[in-house]
Amino acid sequence: MTSGPVTVGGHSVDPGEKRTFRFDAGETYHGDALDIPVTVVNGDAAGPRIFLAAAVHGDELNGVKIVQEVADRYGPGDVNGALVCLHVLNVPGFLAQQRYVPIYDEDLNRSFPGNARGTMAGRLANTIYEEFVSKCDLGLDFHTSTRNRTTMYHVRADMRDPAVERLARAFGTGVILDGEGSDGTLRRVACGDGIPTVTVEMGRAHRFQTAHLDRALHCVASVLAEHEVLPGRPVSWPGWTRVVARDGEKTWVRAETGGLVDIEWGPHPLVEEGEPLFTISDHFKEDVEVVRAPATGLVVGVLESAVAYPGHPLCHFVSVDEATAAIIGDDIERGAFDVYREGGFQWPEPQWYAEHEYGPGSEGGREPHDTG
Ligand SMILES: [Zn+2]
Repeated sequence: MTSGPVTVGGHSVDPGEKRTFRFDAGETYHGDALDIPVTVVNGDAAGPRIFLAAAVHGDELNGVKIVQEVADRYGPGDVNGALVCLHVLNVPGFLAQQRYVPIYDEDLNRSFPGNARGTMAGRLANTIYEEFVSKCDLGLDFHTSTRNRTTMYHVRADMRDPAVERLARAFGTGVILDGEGSDGTLRRVACGDGIPTVTVEMGRAHRFQTAHLDRALHCVASVLAEHEVLPGRPVSWPGWTRVVARDGEKTWVRAETGGLVDIEWGPHPLVEEGEPLFTISDHFKEDVEVVRAPATGLVVGVLESAVAYPGHPLCHFVSVDEATAAIIGDDIERGAFDVYREGGFQWPEPQWYAEHEYGPGSEGGREPHDTG
């Protein structure tokens, strides 16, 4: 928290200084540098150091745009503390526009904290972790759904850790999926080292989705406000929160027959128990399976596949209680979700609140209540 130079990636950035550079993180077949673009904003005043990471999966681009905009938006006069903006982590994957590190198709987000003598993913993870992440106090890691899927805007966080919970709630998404994350993920390793980090998930790979980006910039500002990086600024509150427990509360809805898939739910994400979600039909429409909502809840992730086989996952589903469903229903009523499905899972406009209207541990809708 002391004011002083931020030394990351071999560069020392003084208080009151903003600097961009490319960090040499490896080599291509040509022997050219694999450069990670970095922006460091070191505020005039002391405060926490926050890293923002994008494209750990190389084709997940919404985060790349978010980091670009955050890096552009804030200067040393705006922040107490420092922003360490890592514009693209999986550079080889980004260049190839694919999820994994090419060659062995390694998942960079299963490779942390890395290995200096390992393969490309291990080395890349090691240098990112040592040079940047380990020198920060907290972090945000931006992802999207993988190819041919789309996901509702949400946060994944280890809610057992109060500092991680604070970060997750300040980000202000309606849905928070609780869990520590898989082995080797950036957030799990960082959290284990006392660097609270959450994963932000939104939309689709391979594109910039404007509504998500606007929302995310708002949410980043909210996190910065909560942690006094933006002093005197309000913290955002989404109107309702559903924390999904780690013990299998979220379910995959699967096909029981093979065939052609029609989406029946929508255009809003809220469905009632028993409502048709999908139909799966044979070519002659003789056998039609209606796949129904297992409870009243939200469709949070969808496989955009046109065909399915028995056991094929169709969507990721989260139940909500009556009170939360009523609040989401009000949002739908006032048109907040009108562009939801065709727009790629957009969210209602968030609102700023002058004061913190919730405390850690509160959950539910506008009147805090227990949604389990
Ligand atoms: Zn990802």
